[in-house]
Amino acid sequence: MHPSVTVIDHPLLQHKLSIVRSADTTTDNFRRLVREIASMMAYEVTRDLATELVSVTTPIAECKVPMIAGKKLCLVSILRAGNGMLDGMIDLLPGARVGHIGLYRDPHTLQPVEYYFKLPEDVEERDVIVVDPMLATGNSACAALSRLKEEGVTSLKLVCLLASPEGLAALAAHHPDVPVTAAAIDSHLDEHGYIVPGLGDAGDRLFGTR
Ligand code: URA
Repeated sequence: MHPSVTVIDHPLLQHKLSIVRSADTTTDNFRRLVREIASMMAYEVTRDLATELVSVTTPIAECKVPMIAGKKLCLVSILRAGNGMLDGMIDLLPGARVGHIGLYRDPHTLQPVEYYFKLPEDVEERDVIVVDPMLATGNSACAALSRLKEEGVTSLKLVCLLASPEGLAALAAHHPDVPVTAAAIDSHLDEHGYIVPGLGDAGDRLFGTR
């Protein structure tokens, strides 16, 4: 297991996730619910953001109140399914910059192949939150995290809807320094690399491509 995994067990989030899992859930509901879950996950994953006291004058009095301080944020979506979580996170973090990493899984080797890579210029100065709904083999997430470290990023977190034990083990082996936040840890991977019981192909379900 990974040294730092947080599973968000909030009942509202778990309820929405259960609907998302159902094969009967339509594309529009799937998309809306993933967005809502992502907002909740953004709330949790930013729990440790530094704050500083600033002066504010209310209609009644002046006071010192907390505001976000420190490094700026960057959300990085692993295409294409990561985009399904992006809007929900941006709803809560409207000032965050956004990067995209395009990786597809070679269906035979299950290894990630990079086809797109675009990040903010000052990404290495930012706290980076990588979003990928499905931590399956962990190959894509590991490759994306390695690329971000190559770009000089030192502050990294990974947010996924579902994690497999295999994916968490891969992350623990290659990126034990990166905390993982998930909505659930499922049982295992099947012979095609799908998470069981999972929710199927997140990209296809988000974009209605199958
Ligand atoms: N990617 C998906 O979309 N679903 C899985 O179960 C595994 C990888």
